Amino acid sequence: MLPYDAYLDESIPDHVLQLLADLVDPDDCWFDHRGGCQAHGYLDLEPGVLCPHHEAKQLLVEHKVIERECDESAINGIRGG
Ligand SMILES: [Zn+2]
Repeated sequence: MLPYDAYLDESIPDHVLQLLADLVDPDDCWFDHRGGCQAHGYLDLEPGVLCPHHEAKQLLVEHKVIERECDESAINGIRGG
C-alpha cells in the first residue's frame, strides 16, 4: 500500500486514470463497525485502511476524472463507531 502522498503524483497518464474510472465500482462503500467494506467485500481491512474502491475514487477526484468520491456519511460511520 502506497502512502497517500504517492497518489497525488501528477504524472499518472490520462488513459490510466480512465481505466481506473472504468474499473472502480460506482456504488458507495458501506463500512461495517470494524471498518471493513461490505459493499465491495473487503471485510478484513487493517484499522485506518480504506477500501481500495474509495482510495481509487479519491485519486480520481484529485485528478478531476470524477466529481465525487463515496458519500461522506459512510466514512463518518467509522469515526462514530
Ligand atoms: Zn468499498
